[in-house]
Amino acid sequence: QEDAAYMVSLIRSVPGFPKEGIIFRDFMPVLADPRGLKILLKALEEALPVAPDEFDAIAGLESRGFLFGPSLAAHLGKGFIAIRKAGKLPPETIGESYDLEYGTASVEIETEAVAHGERVLIVDDLIATGGTAKAGADLIEKAGGTVVGFSFVMRLEGLDGIDKLGGVPTSSLVSMP
Ligand code: 5GP
Repeated sequence: QEDAAYMVSLIRSVPGFPKEGIIFRDFMPVLADPRGLKILLKALEEALPVAPDEFDAIAGLESRGFLFGPSLAAHLGKGFIAIRKAGKLPPETIGESYDLEYGTASVEIETEAVAHGERVLIVDDLIATGGTAKAGADLIEKAGGTVVGFSFVMRLEGLDGIDKLGGVPTSSLVSMP
């Protein structure tokens, strides 16, 4: 409890980023703090939405899912799959597009990144509308994997992000207004 409060106290809120009216929730100070980082990794593991023996790999969403996904994976004895933003990987890749407030974005993985039938837990720092996480999940499934859970550090209140994830078990450590 004391640990959780300490970790939350390290989250930085930046009003007006990336544009006016948005409060950006920044967990980099948690990573930068030795005690904060330990608490974060332990809390993510304790809050896992499914038992560790129910997934084979962790997939992280670029960029902030890359910052703790591999550490969590290593600690659990799993591999790590990088879900990249479009245009970063050499061919062959498979992609999935999703809608943003204005326009669209895409995520990609290497064609061979997911083994057939592999059970995957998806991680990211924050879920807002859920569009990014949903696209990542659709991509994993397109590549032949099965998404068995989602793990987030933060979720934004007042958005139906988690409802978009099709009832797949989901955890988040902190709910932010
Ligand atoms: P969504 O697709 O759920 O609307 O947005 C989530 C994605 O945008 C995540 O990849 C997340 O890293 C990023 N994101 C959106 N808002 C914030 C925020 O306030 N703080 C941080 N750290 N990331 C955000």
